Amino acid sequence: LEQQLRQAERLDSLGQLAGGIAHDFNNILAVISGYADMLADELDEGHPSRSDAAGIKQAAARGAALTRQLLMFSRSEPSQPELLDLNTVTSDMLRMLGRTLGEDIELGTVLVPHLPPVVIDRSKLEQVVMNAVLNARAAMPAGGRLTLSTSLEHAGDGSDQVCLAVTDTGCGMPPEVLARAFEPFFTTKGRGSGTGLGLATAYGVVTDAGGTISLESEPDRGTTLHVRLPAGAAGAPGVSPAAPGAPARAG
Ligand code: ADP
Repeated sequence: LEQQLRQAERLDSLGQLAGGIAHDFNNILAVISGYADMLADELDEGHPSRSDAAGIKQAAARGAALTRQLLMFSRSEPSQPELLDLNTVTSDMLRMLGRTLGEDIELGTVLVPHLPPVVIDRSKLEQVVMNAVLNARAAMPAGGRLTLSTSLEHAGDGSDQVCLAVTDTGCGMPPEVLARAFEPFFTTKGRGSGTGLGLATAYGVVTDAGGTISLESEPDRGTTLHVRLPAGAAGAPGVSPAAPGAPARAG
């Protein structure tokens, strides 16, 4: 537990630092992007330097995407927790992601009906799911099966947890990667394709909502990311069951 606390503290101060830098950086990138636009406007259609200007804009956009992730990771975005049905969020995400995953991924869901709601910021939860799905996709370069399953777990102390598992049949993680996967900026992906912030951000989002997140992985067999959130509105200050955006149905 002490180690977990130390880890959380380190994540916090790293996050504040990252957030400050990311904010300034975003402004700089906006200026770069603006000048690239102006440059492109001043060049005639077909001028060879127009593609250079487009290249600058593209790189600035990549930088902006990275700083967005940094800001997200630093938790400087305010949270707006609401009552959500995990099944609904999962199916919505699936509909959105299904097309982008590619034909070589067999997509499936196992949804346990009538789950109690969870209390969490919707866009942050979507970010967690999206990142897990993209990690799963990246772990299956030659295709495979991706399953999103929900379930309800009864803890020993009588509290219920609503769970989401994202399972892939990909490359899995050797123990040394598994041990560090939640560390900010830890990535095994090449430069430009991985930030190492996906799981660290997910860790922050889920623990802020009172939940837990864990990985189970076996090399060459695959990986499951488990997200567990406390069931119901209990313990979530400021969120009433009648909060706007509360789902009208429960599964
Ligand atoms: P990134 O995806 O930018 O590398 P993450 O924090 O999301 O950052 O993941 C950190 C590392 O954990 C990845 O680089 C990868 O090595 C490993 N990882 C995460 N998810 C999976 C998965 N589903 N299968 C195999 N390895 C994974």
